[in-house]
Amino acid sequence: MDFSFTEEQKKFREEVRQFLEGEIREGLWEPSCDAWIQEYNPEFTKRVAQKGWIGLIWPKEYGGQGRSHVDRLILTEEMLRYGAPAACHWFADRQVGGTILSYGSEELKKEFLPRIVKGEAYFGLGMSEPGAGSDLASLQTRAVEDGDYYVINGQKTWTSCAYFAHYFDVYARTDPEAVKHRGISEFIVDAKSPGLSRIPMIDITGTEAWSDLFFDNVRVHKKYLIGEKNRGFYQVLHQLDYERSGLERIMGNYPLFEAIIQFAKENKLSQEPVIRNKLAQLQIEFEVGRLLGYRVTSIMEEGRTPNWESAMSKVYSTEFEKCLASVAMEILGHYGQLMPGSKLVPLRGMAPHSYLGSKGYSLQAGTTEILKNILAARGLGLPSS
Ligand SMILES: Cc1cc2nc3c(=O)[nH]c(=O)nc-3n(C[C@H](O)[C@H](O)[C@H](O)COP(=O)(O)OP(=O)(O)OC[C@H]3O[C@@H](n4cnc5c(N)ncnc54)[C@H](O)[C@@H]3O)c2cc1C
Repeated sequence: MDFSFTEEQKKFREEVRQFLEGEIREGLWEPSCDAWIQEYNPEFTKRVAQKGWIGLIWPKEYGGQGRSHVDRLILTEEMLRYGAPAACHWFADRQVGGTILSYGSEELKKEFLPRIVKGEAYFGLGMSEPGAGSDLASLQTRAVEDGDYYVINGQKTWTSCAYFAHYFDVYARTDPEAVKHRGISEFIVDAKSPGLSRIPMIDITGTEAWSDLFFDNVRVHKKYLIGEKNRGFYQVLHQLDYERSGLERIMGNYPLFEAIIQFAKENKLSQEPVIRNKLAQLQIEFEVGRLLGYRVTSIMEEGRTPNWESAMSKVYSTEFEKCLASVAMEILGHYGQLMPGSKLVPLRGMAPHSYLGSKGYSLQAGTTEILKNILAARGLGLPSS
């Protein structure tokens, strides 16, 4: 197994680093934890688009660069390392664009992919419902045919990026008579559609990154059905493999990791054996998690869809994030509990943000229990539960 990067790839990493460091030097934004999912910054997305770094792996005919999965890994790794505010384009770039590419009609590809690449079309994910999370196949949102349209009624919850998304990737039941996972279809829904409303969900970190969405007779033209009618559940499984495939979980809080090591050095805490031990242990776990992520990329590079490998990577990485946040809180002591914006807050409040946020990391994109079920069944070949 060769983990080294080619000279071209190293050059690309350097180019991305220089771009991001330049942005920070100019004071355009500050590195922050969870920035890939929580930091709304359309100007940043525009600048990334101008570099040609959105849709990097997509075919050139749709505006992409036809680059490799390894190049995309390098790009996302650096974005996460610097805590770059990439939420506007992240979901479209990581998974919705890929779904359109894999299953969408030519018309959909031409309508959406070039706009995503230009940083002009942001997407949120409308999968979960109040009664359908782990068991997504039991979702109740209905889409009923009416001439050239589907009429959607129901509720989605935990919808990411809903306060700025232009579109939602929505799963709805199109055949209530069929076995539950065979009656679901996938749609692109315009966020401005009449009948679609939103209530923000303020989570324990205080962010408004997620929302409840309510569909009241929302009309969606049939051309916005992605893939085949009633095949949506199979498509979402494919998409979730990609959602779990990146380094977001191992590196989503990297700015805190870097800052807490620096803090320990500057405060002579680095002489404390317990602290040295804990930071060294974190570094070991970080490296292991990163390699699990690299393995997922190498699977994609071979043209295969990662499955239990992404599940393993996410389970491991969310545990790392919990440990990182706990160690940071321990090192910072009582001051560590101060939230961003407080006068005496250390490290811009990243530690309590991560500590509180880490409770959700092992739920979003599939809970740890569900991912272990995937690992048991598909990785170990145990009978499905
Ligand atoms: C921060 C955050 C962001 C999110 N972002 C999005 C988003 O952008 N879009 C979206 O659509 N959804 C999103 N979600 C929703 C997320 O996908 C669900 O919360 C998740 O799938 C779990 O579903 P649930 O909350 O209904 O819990 P449940 O499915 O009810 O599970 C409750 C508990 O039971 C366990 N459990 C359930 N079934 C089994 C089983 N078969 N075996 C063993 N244990 C089981 C679970 O592991 C969990 O511990 C987000 C959630 C969070 C917390």
